Amino acid sequence: MRKPILAGNWKMNGTNPELPRFFESLVQNLPANWSEDVEVIFALPYTLLQQANVLCKSSPITIASQNINQYESGAYTGEISAAMLKDIGVTTTLIGHSERRQYYAETDESVSEKVRVCLEQGIRPIACVGETKDERESGVTEDVVARQVTAILAGVKDLANLVIAYEPVWAIGTGLTASDEQANQVHSFIRDLVAKKFNDEQAQNLRILYGGSAKPANIDGLLKQEHIDGGLVGGASLKADDFSRMINAAVELYGR
Ligand code: PEP
Repeated sequence: MRKPILAGNWKMNGTNPELPRFFESLVQNLPANWSEDVEVIFALPYTLLQQANVLCKSSPITIASQNINQYESGAYTGEISAAMLKDIGVTTTLIGHSERRQYYAETDESVSEKVRVCLEQGIRPIACVGETKDERESGVTEDVVARQVTAILAGVKDLANLVIAYEPVWAIGTGLTASDEQANQVHSFIRDLVAKKFNDEQAQNLRILYGGSAKPANIDGLLKQEHIDGGLVGGASLKADDFSRMINAAVELYGR
């Protein structure tokens, strides 16, 4: 069975003084052994990573970055390398989030390169794919997702340390969510693509998260889908109460 992941993406939100209270109230609403059934990740702004890692040191919560630069070092003002993240104990990162593709000119090529560098450096990438509203309406969702997934897999030799997130761009931060079936269909399509490049067994072990206005009210239906292995959650991860409700929903569904 694939262990589900609930990953919060704080985007450009949050300050250090808020962190202790946030994690305290998140954890106090969870059952004692929640981490046996669900993996919880927070992708935070760079300024919060160090303190969050210290605060979560004795808890099973994983702290992640939202991006890396694909180069090792050098004249790339404002950027952070994989080695710099490892230096502060961060070993998971989002790659190719649609906001980075949309506003910061990330391309399939740069995403592919970043995934390759992450894996080489022992950083686990959560690589994001998803179609825009226009692409969905013109019926090219599968073409777009196939192109993006193929780029991600180009530099992957071993799937063990990769997570993919399907995030339809039209559902991110809009309040619109893909229906459970729509999302599951794309997840199943992604798993098939992965099986073609690797094999069935490895594809069955790959975790594919859904992202796009996931919240306490809809997480249950999404998590019940065969190919949905958790959520990448923006807005609802900023509220400890909402996010703990989502983790609890996953514990109930997956708990032994
Ligand atoms: C995201 O940031 O990846 C995301 C899915 O945001 P939201 O949940 O707010 O739509």
